[in-house]
Amino acid sequence: MSGLLLHVFGRQSVGFDGGGKLGYIGDEIDGLRRKGAIDLKRKPNPENPEVCLIQRAVEESPRGFQSMGLSRGMLDALRKIHYTAPSPIQTALIPEALEGRDVIGQAKTGTGKTAAFAIPLIEMLEVRGKGPQAIILAPTRELVQQIVVEMQKLAHGQNVAICGLYGGEPIEKQLRALERGVDIIVGTPGRVLDHIERRTLYLGDIFHVVLDEADRMLDIGFRPDIERILRQTPDPHQTLLLSATISDEIRTLARRYMFEPVELNLSRDEPSVESIKQYYITVEHDRKFDLLVHLLGRDNPSQCIIFTRTKRGADKLADRLRGRVSGVATIHGDLTQTVRNRVMQGFRNGTIPVLVATDVVGRGIDVNDISHVINFDIPDDPENYVHRIGRTGRMGKDGIAYLFVGADQGEPLTAIENLINKSIPTLPLEGFVAYRRDQNRRESSFRELFSTTRDRSTAAFARR
Ligand code: AMP
Repeated sequence: MSGLLLHVFGRQSVGFDGGGKLGYIGDEIDGLRRKGAIDLKRKPNPENPEVCLIQRAVEESPRGFQSMGLSRGMLDALRKIHYTAPSPIQTALIPEALEGRDVIGQAKTGTGKTAAFAIPLIEMLEVRGKGPQAIILAPTRELVQQIVVEMQKLAHGQNVAICGLYGGEPIEKQLRALERGVDIIVGTPGRVLDHIERRTLYLGDIFHVVLDEADRMLDIGFRPDIERILRQTPDPHQTLLLSATISDEIRTLARRYMFEPVELNLSRDEPSVESIKQYYITVEHDRKFDLLVHLLGRDNPSQCIIFTRTKRGADKLADRLRGRVSGVATIHGDLTQTVRNRVMQGFRNGTIPVLVATDVVGRGIDVNDISHVINFDIPDDPENYVHRIGRTGRMGKDGIAYLFVGADQGEPLTAIENLINKSIPTLPLEGFVAYRRDQNRRESSFRELFSTTRDRSTAAFARR
């Protein structure tokens, strides 16, 4: 087995030993992996006789997806959905993942991160066995649904069964899908655990784990669930962790459950935030609604998400707006899945141009043509600001983000600027200016915050 080199041709693996073909195909590779004869998690190391490499099939072509050694079926699917060139996260992550490595990818939504992990996962699937081979955990139902849709497009023409597991829809449908046999599971941690406990989901054949929007999953409090799921997955397995921010908590998780992960920080080159014009507008609290109506009338956004802090606030604002603007809907965690699906469908097809959302649900929204994000309520956590505005300016398109700031909210504004390491310009609007931001206070407050949040701002700076 020494020096075994695996070449993966799409979904078929062929083993080579020191250049001579041994003829291991599909199931046999899987068998070797199970017996522990090969370890796909090892980093390539010529000193180590047991080292295994997964190498990409070489299709000689200088750039783009063609140079990644993807299967003919995958290249056809990419052509069909008009993905002509890989995004930066795809260029960086796909080859590492195809080599079987554990990867921590720092990338925001809207940068093509779903396809970055989905393409290699689909490519590395073996012939269907008993249970699923890959599991993707994501924080919200909406995100799970989006990942399923994206994966189905990427697996077009290949016999890959993908199943979404999330709460808010009858479990029977999911049970039937699991019974039929599934290659890839995409789910929220809570519902996945639910299935494991009911013994309707078996993770014994899992070889690839993806933690998508890991920071958000930890924010929501999914950490114990995630750890319980990870403890159920057999070793060795490959783990890909995607996160907009890499906190100490994420590093702890990675240390515990990942093997020598390669770190990719794509935020630095990530164009989306750069393509967003950001402004803050000072406004008295009781005039925020008038300001909103004024902006909607002035800019006439093609598609707009308005963020509120609470679910109740979202409902109240949407009710008031309905009297003034057409095509308004609200989306948050208290609505049934059917209603949420209907709202998202309307938002995607343009019949609902104005969506009022809370952070948890709003963050998962993946629609490419959102022109405006309006922060009606300043976010409690400055990091939520980054996630909110990332709904616009996706895949390099232009976007506008407004932040409403009350006279008493100078500090949260400064905390946001501190985090993104840039000063947000103000947009003076006649009739709405609540106060002039005190420059001295702002600078001393900035210094103070900088010293207490140095690590975060240094990290934010490194990401730029
Ligand atoms: P994500 O960051 O995964 O949410 O992707 C953002 C959007 O970009 C999704 O609507 C994808 O369908 C789209 N997308 C992803 N990769 C590409 C690509 N290489 N070319 C064009 N569009 C892409």
